[in-house]
Amino acid sequence: LNRRLAEFGTTIFAEMSALAARTGSINLGQGFPDTDGPEEIREAAVRALRDGRGNQYPPGPGVPELRSAITDHQRERYGLGYDPDTEVLVTAGATEAIAAALLALVEPGDEVIALEPYYDSYAACVAMAGGTRVPVTLRPAEGPDGRTYVLDLDELRAAVTDRTRLILLNTPHNPTGTVLTRAELTAVAELAVERDLLVVTDEVYEHLVFDGAEHLPIASLPGMRERTVTIGSAGKTFSFTGWKVGWITASPELTSAVRSAKQFLTYVSSGPFQYAIAEALRLPAAYFDGLRTELAAKRDLLSEGLAQAGFGVFKPAGTYFVTTDIRPLGAEDGFAFCRSLPERAGVVAIPNAVFYDHREAGAPFVRFAFCKRTEVLEEAVSRLKRLA
Ligand code: PMP
Ligand code: GLN
Repeated sequence: LNRRLAEFGTTIFAEMSALAARTGSINLGQGFPDTDGPEEIREAAVRALRDGRGNQYPPGPGVPELRSAITDHQRERYGLGYDPDTEVLVTAGATEAIAAALLALVEPGDEVIALEPYYDSYAACVAMAGGTRVPVTLRPAEGPDGRTYVLDLDELRAAVTDRTRLILLNTPHNPTGTVLTRAELTAVAELAVERDLLVVTDEVYEHLVFDGAEHLPIASLPGMRERTVTIGSAGKTFSFTGWKVGWITASPELTSAVRSAKQFLTYVSSGPFQYAIAEALRLPAAYFDGLRTELAAKRDLLSEGLAQAGFGVFKPAGTYFVTTDIRPLGAEDGFAFCRSLPERAGVVAIPNAVFYDHREAGAPFVRFAFCKRTEVLEEAVSRLKRLA
């Protein structure tokens, strides 16, 4: 393994899912739903397979039906107009979109600012691109609705240097469940314009926002459309994480750059599934509202259960993860805690420290996924209450 990748080892998600399987524990680690997405969309995939749509290489930028469904979605939801021919690229999940964007846009030695804790592939992809990651730590705080995380704008500003190429954003944010506020996003946008930076924004949880919160794409703020690569994915929105259909929307110049990298990674992927996701993006509002309502109830169930079990709980405004503080349970090291949790409680979780460069800042925090059936969450809660 070369020096660029040596520090990354095996992704925590594979490690923890293997631990869950080995110990027969409830897996609240890796974020994937235990119920598949809509029947009619599965049928759409079957129809595409049967009718011979997408069984051979689809077009490089993605099938036209999906590209126009993506641009309609961005326009109708966010008032963001993109040209389906020049400003959309379908990718093998958001994972490839992140990799291709960084490989295309980062020169060796460039600095990439990422909000810490950050999704684990960001660091690996910055390294593969030869860039240097510069983490800006989200800080735990007491908000009006309980514990939350905030972006320190002075810290962000201070992190920008002459070598900074881009800011890698993620909202709604994995693993904290934070949804960046309009004020935070406006400040990031102003900084990007002032310092002439690109923004790559990972919005795979755009539909998973709760309590009437609204997802705000940074590309819709003044001066941002031409400097932003927005990343989306069908995995979370439609509960088909195995289909690996993702996409970017961006200016023709940025889209073409990302496509240059993408063509040599996978070239294309997920042919028949692209047709099915084109239909999924056109599902009525009731689908998206239903998903949100269902997940909000699961969030409440797990958050309340974890609080009763003695955890400090950061009630998430978005995503399907809840971050907890284990110090009220007398523990400090999330790694050790997660390693012993299968034996002590028959549950698997993720230590947030893996998402930090400043490991000590993330040490006492542990993430649980709530995209699971209600009875699974109830059983997990009753097991975790044994810890108290
Ligand atoms: N970004 C974030 C923040 C994620 O949590 C994930 C994992 N679900 C991804 C990207 C990867 O998405 P995909 O499965 O579409 O590759
Ligand atoms: N995004 C999922 C998570 O955060 C995992 C995806 C993966 O396994 N790479 O849990």
